[in-house]
Amino acid sequence: MVRQQLKIGDEFTNWEIIKEVDRKNGRRYWHCKCQCGTKKEIEQSSLITGRSKSCGCLRVGAGKKLKKYHEDHYRKDGVMTTTLKRKNNTNSSTGVKGVSSIKTVSGERFRVDIGINKKSLYLGVFDTLDEAKVVRKKAEIKYHKPYLG
Ligand SMILES: [Zn+2]
Repeated sequence: MVRQQLKIGDEFTNWEIIKEVDRKNGRRYWHCKCQCGTKKEIEQSSLITGRSKSCGCLRVGAGKKLKKYHEDHYRKDGVMTTTLKRKNNTNSSTGVKGVSSIKTVSGERFRVDIGINKKSLYLGVFDTLDEAKVVRKKAEIKYHKPYLG
């Protein structure tokens, strides 16, 4: 493998090196900050090879960690407009438009989104499908009706 000298301030996709840390098991680690603000120690080879590109926030639609991440982050301010480049309402596993099933440690829950002007508005995560349906319906009335006239 090509030896590469990394330094503080180097950027690898979402990671930015902020501090050098001690070697572990002969491997070099760097204290990095993700664009989203998450800080983590990343092995040097992972940065160079691109195996690690972010704390996980970058891999849209992949893995539990991301769903958890989004759930935590979006929940902070309740509602948030996302600009994620993701097809909306196509991955519905519930049969209800805009409602997708997510697996959490406490069981199945239901995430509600609504598409407005090609953007996706996140409406929340709910314990039951019924609850999610009601929220989605209300949102359709609120957001879609004015456009339909
Ligand atoms: Zn991140």
